[in-house]
This record gives sequence, structure tokens and C-alpha cells, in this order.
Amino acid sequence: MRKTVSIRYVITTVLFFTTGIFLYAQKSSISFIVSMDQPATHEFHVVMNYQSLKGDSIDLKMPVWTPGYYQRLDFANNVENFNAADASGKTKGWRKISGNTWRVNNSSTSMILDYDVKTTRPFVATPYLDEERGYIIPTGVFFFPAEEIQHPVTIVVKPYEKWKDVATGLDTVAGKKYTFIAPDYDILYDSPLLVGNLEEFPSFTIKGVPHRFIAYKPGEFDKVQFMNDLKKIVMTATNLIGDIPYKQYTFIGIGPGAGGIEHLNSTTVSFNINNQNSQQNWLRTYFFLAHEYFHNYNVKRIRPIELGPFDYDNGSRTKMLWVSEGLSVYYENMIVKRAGLCTEDELLNAFRSNILAYENKPGRLYQSLTQASYEIWSDGPFGRTGDDINKTISYYDKGPAVGMLLDFKIRHETKNKKSLDDVMRTLYKEFYQQKKRGFTEDEFRQVCEKIAGTSLADVFEYVSTTKEVDYKKYLDYAGLDIDTVSKEIPGGWLGIATRIRNDSVIISAVDWNSPAWDAGIRQRNVILELDGTKVNAQSIENVFKNKKPGDKIELEIMQSNEKKDMSIFLGKKIERPFLITRKPGPDNLQKEILESWLQ
Ligand SMILES: [Zn+2]
Repeated sequence: MRKTVSIRYVITTVLFFTTGIFLYAQKSSISFIVSMDQPATHEFHVVMNYQSLKGDSIDLKMPVWTPGYYQRLDFANNVENFNAADASGKTKGWRKISGNTWRVNNSSTSMILDYDVKTTRPFVATPYLDEERGYIIPTGVFFFPAEEIQHPVTIVVKPYEKWKDVATGLDTVAGKKYTFIAPDYDILYDSPLLVGNLEEFPSFTIKGVPHRFIAYKPGEFDKVQFMNDLKKIVMTATNLIGDIPYKQYTFIGIGPGAGGIEHLNSTTVSFNINNQNSQQNWLRTYFFLAHEYFHNYNVKRIRPIELGPFDYDNGSRTKMLWVSEGLSVYYENMIVKRAGLCTEDELLNAFRSNILAYENKPGRLYQSLTQASYEIWSDGPFGRTGDDINKTISYYDKGPAVGMLLDFKIRHETKNKKSLDDVMRTLYKEFYQQKKRGFTEDEFRQVCEKIAGTSLADVFEYVSTTKEVDYKKYLDYAGLDIDTVSKEIPGGWLGIATRIRNDSVIISAVDWNSPAWDAGIRQRNVILELDGTKVNAQSIENVFKNKKPGDKIELEIMQSNEKKDMSIFLGKKIERPFLITRKPGPDNLQKEILESWLQ
């Protein structure tokens, strides 16, 4: 962790209390110009202008990760044509002293650095440029001088000549087009910029605070209706916490893909919808946007102590991502329901999906929520990808399930006077607003137990251990039941999930100890033929539906660039359904808890 920041540049601080406004001026300045004249090369060109630097040499660093995506991305590897000079153009010598640090010799009070940033793929956590848009993830584009993370930064964007729009949560500089200012690097690194010809949807305000949605190629659908629904989501979340902590908020749609990243006053989301007609698809979009929006509270402000100030050199590890991510999944479900955008059945089904995903993976026997949070840096954001995937769980699955138990327990213990909402509000007030810091594991638990008025050791055991979860006990507090009796799923069981890419049927997951697993089939193998015929994802599913346990299939697969033929006997799939339903004849407290929970 970066513990202290020694400020080498001199800040002359002059406070003008009379107007309530304080103004400060500093001697040194840092500004960047980022241009994209040849988008087809996929390279941004960056010029950094650093004035009044001190010392014989200066260390410039590129972060190794971007907060919100808990994996090393080593952005320094994308820097090319690095060149340093003084104001008169005289070249300064430099050498790399670590994977992400450039040491530049210094003999004057100014430095002009220029370099290219090569981009390779459109993804929410990495910079990307092509002929249609530029996506600037600041951690992957802008250097910071070591120890000067608190330095203000000015960014000038020079869009490709055919483009006119820049979307970002950064403040603009009045009278200067495409010029943005960040009071420090933490704010800069938290504010991606999307450049292109973008579409802006009708905006809305809540308590006078504007909320915008700006997107690259969002697709064709009813944007008025969509923004009305989004307003309900945002309003529900702001009412839950009781405060709107930003001056403006921007949803930035970066085009097709998967995933989103949360920021203090914006979120970047992979977003492309074409008249999706099924309620299920819309619901998925609403859950996703509610999740990213709620993160502006949970993780950006209500946060584990390790997640700020960030360690840009090593990454910031915490054992509480199950709170930051898992409880954000819990609240995405709750917010969409409370906003009136899904039914009771759809809400219960959302939690059922979380439970199924967790219970059907063998990793639940090996990894706790705290371990999953801490080890994500080696596992990748959605679990491990190799064979040891079976030893891990995802806090996106177990987190919301434990969130539900915690909420029902608090409601039960307080005779429905308090809930998990009170925990979130208390964390926001006590830690974000008053102490201005994150909370430790002990402090998180203390807040929960203070609100519950009792020990929550039983629930927290599900956080720190792999103990079998007793869902029935906690759902009963709300008069709900859950079906945990194992049932045989009809059809023959091979134990694979598939997805289609470029007409190939790729195996996306293999159940542990399934016939497929035992036959040596693994993730990313490609199915060429089944019983002598070419297949697609749909026809494969139908084949298994019409088979029975004990039936033999012939499979031709591609494994490590080799064709392999296998004969496999199908098995019997036994699964606990985890259907959640209302119990008949609830008592008054159960009735009250369920009603207020569903609101
Ligand atoms: Zn998230």
C-alpha cells in the first residue's frame, strides 16, 4: 500500500474564508494532450507536460491495474516510442527501473514527454481505439510522477477529425473545448473518457442533480421509456442511502461486449441493445445497471479500508469484495424490485440463480467468501480458468445469498425495525461521511451486530468458512421456503455448458466429476461432431434431452489443436432445485418482514 505521500511540489495555499470559497495555486503543473489522428493504428498519442519539477531525476509510473477490475493489467507494456525532452526540445536520458517505472534524468524545470499507447481489444477495463471510437482508461494512458498522486492534472482531448463528442465524469474547464481537470490522480484514474460520435439519451434530474446516459452505438429501442425506468432505479438507490454525493452522474455506454466498471460519478458499461423484446433480457439490463449504479455507494464510498488510497504499483487486496461485489448483487436485485421493474417471482428467481450457481460448483467445499475476495487477483474476476476452477467460488454468487440471510436475520432479531439497509446507511454516515475512510472486517461486523442488537456469528461463519448453508432457517424468518430436496433432471447428463463463437461450439464450462470431466474434456475444447453429425449449441441440448442415463455418445472434439474421438456413457444429473416459495399461514412477524422486504 502507498502509505504516505510526500509532496515535493510546493503548494501555496491561500484561504479566502470570507466567501466560503478557498483558492489555491501551486507552482508546478501537469497536463496531458491525448490525440488519435490515425485511429486505424489503434494507438493513442500522448504528450505530457510537467512544469517545475525538482530533483536530479524523476520517476514516472504507469499503474499496473485499474480500480474496480481486480486483476493485473500491466498497462506499462502498451507504452511505445517513449521520449523525454525539456522545453527547448533537448532530449533527456531515461531508463526503466521497474516493470512500470521510467526514471528520467532531470536538468531543468520542465519536461515534455511523448509516447504512444497501443491498444488491442475493446474491453471495459482497458483503453481502446479504432475508426469508430476511442475509449480512454486513464490508468492505462496517463503517467503519474511517483509520490505525487495528489497532484492536480489537466487533460486536453484531441478527438479524431471525424468525431465531435467526449463523455466523461471529469469536470470541464470553462471556455475550453475538450479540456478537463482532475483535482488529483485518484479522480483522474477514476474517470474514463469515451470519444466518438456518441448518442445522448434524454437526461433526468433527481433533487436537481443531472443524470445522463451517453453511448456509442447503443442500438435501436425506446430511449424515453428506458430512461424513465433508469430514473426509477437511480431514485430507489438514492432513497435507500438518503444522500446524493455527486454533482452530476453519467452512464457511459461503450458499445457491445460484457461488463461494467463503477466510478465516483460515472460508470462505463458494455451496452448494446436492439429492441430486446423479452422481459428477461430487459431485466438483465436493469439488474446490471442497478449494480453498477449502486457501486457509487457500495465500494466507491462505502468501502473496505484497503480500497483507498489505491496502490497503483501492486494492486489493492481486500478480504471484503464479497461486501463490495456480493452485496451489490444483493442490492441490484432489491433495487430493481423496489423500483417496480420486476415481480416477486422474478426477484425470488434472481436469488435462486445466485444460490444454484454457488451450490452447483464443487468450489464451495474449498473456498470461503473471504478467500474468494482475497485470492481473486490470482483467480481472475470470474474465477479461475484452468482445471482448478473447481476449487474456487464466485462472490457474485454466494455474496448475494449471504446478503439475503444477513438481511432476514437482522429483520427477525429487530422485530422488523431494522434491516441491511440500515447497515449500508450507517457505514455511509460513519465511515464515508464522518471518518472519511473505509472499514475493517471487524468494523463491518460490529456495525451489522450493533444494528441487529445481537451476535451474528452464525451468518459470519458462512463468510469465513465453507460450512453448508442453512437457507431454510433464514428464509423462514420471512415466511419463505426453499426446496433443497435432490431431484433427477430428465435426459442424459454429459456435464458441459457451451457457447458459440465463429460457428464453433466451444465448451464454456465442465461440471466436476461429470462424464465429460472424467473423459478429460475441459473448458475451451471445441466440439466438432456429436454422433457423427456437425452440431450447434441448440442441437446439442436437444440431443441430451432425448437421451437417457447410460446411453453412449460418440464425440469428436478439438483439444490443444488435436482432433480426438471419444465414446462416453451419459450419466444421471441430480440437482437440488432451490425454488423459493411462500409458506402457507405465516405469522404476523413473518408477514411483516416479507411485505417490507418486497416493498
Ligand atoms: Zn460489481
